[in-house]
Amino acid sequence: MNSLTNYIKSFTLWELLKGMALTGRYMFRRSITVHFPEEKTPQSYRFRGLHAQRRYPNGEERCIGCKLCEAVCPALAIKIETEERDDGTRRTTRYDIDLVKCIFCGFCEEACPVDAIVETRIYEYHGESRHELYYTKEMLLAVGDKYEAQIAKDRAADAKFR
Ligand code: SF4
Ligand code: SF4
Repeated sequence: MNSLTNYIKSFTLWELLKGMALTGRYMFRRSITVHFPEEKTPQSYRFRGLHAQRRYPNGEERCIGCKLCEAVCPALAIKIETEERDDGTRRTTRYDIDLVKCIFCGFCEEACPVDAIVETRIYEYHGESRHELYYTKEMLLAVGDKYEAQIAKDRAADAKFR
């Protein structure tokens, strides 16, 4: 019986008709294609994009070189070196993130006690070599300086749910 049914189905091109019916059903529905980059989808304030290092309003770096982010990073993407300043505070002399290794898990920003390392909403960046995706402290601070207003807004929104 089964083979007879299969024979009739293949003779009448049943599977093809089924496929065409499905195509036809979607042909007149509203398109959900987003025409990037002219159109963009909404983003969460918790979006995990390009990293940034933040400063306090007086221009001082937030990072105190505690290395918690380096310790928690599952991809071993963070490298930190520190030194003590004349005033007794500790600051980083090196803070690098290898974005080729990074898996954008967000553990570094979760671990940071002073909200220094954060992941921004930025995803439109690229590198044409591994070297270009190796972000140094200066590069991370530059990202932070440029997007501080948005970062501060997102962190405030996030804090309401903690
Ligand atoms: S997002 Fe995750 S993988 Fe990337 S640097 Fe932070 S802790 Fe490491
Ligand atoms: S970014 Fe935060 S967690 Fe990482 S070393 Fe600096 S203060 Fe510590």
